[in-house]
Amino acid sequence: MQIQAAVLYTPNTPFILETLTLDDPRAGEVRVKIAACGVCHSDYHLVTGTTRHPLPVVCGHEGAGVVEAVGEGVTRIQPGDHVILNWAPACGDCWYCRHDKPNLCATFTDPIWAGVMLDGTTRLHLPNGDLVYAYCGLASFADHVVVPEQSCIPIAAMSR
Ligand SMILES: [Zn+2]
Ligand SMILES: [Zn+2]
Repeated sequence: MQIQAAVLYTPNTPFILETLTLDDPRAGEVRVKIAACGVCHSDYHLVTGTTRHPLPVVCGHEGAGVVEAVGEGVTRIQPGDHVILNWAPACGDCWYCRHDKPNLCATFTDPIWAGVMLDGTTRLHLPNGDLVYAYCGLASFADHVVVPEQSCIPIAAMSR
């Protein structure tokens, strides 16, 4: 699908609002329509270059919204769920997760900081096909996102 997202191409330049292609959720992934998104100093660190990150990138790591679609094998989340997006997802099965340190999850740490999904690819593309990285696996400076199931925390339905 086509989405609107704020893309950072180079540190110390403005975000550019772009129409991007967002691929469908793959196995273990969820598509969320963003309802609200925080703007945090951690995002600003990418803008200033203080945090080095693959570029171009869609920032945003404090989103919430409504699930629209789920990929194969997703069982904990379903379309219609209202969710908060977690920038530090945990697999529940690695050494750290099994020793009560999900914040250090070995499964997610590397791909999250590389701006890609667990399979090493990204769901975001520019009109010319070039890939765009996703900050914290979320890229919530956008109207829709595709994220790992583990990044979704269900909440009570929000009133509108
Ligand atoms: Zn933050
Ligand atoms: Zn883990």
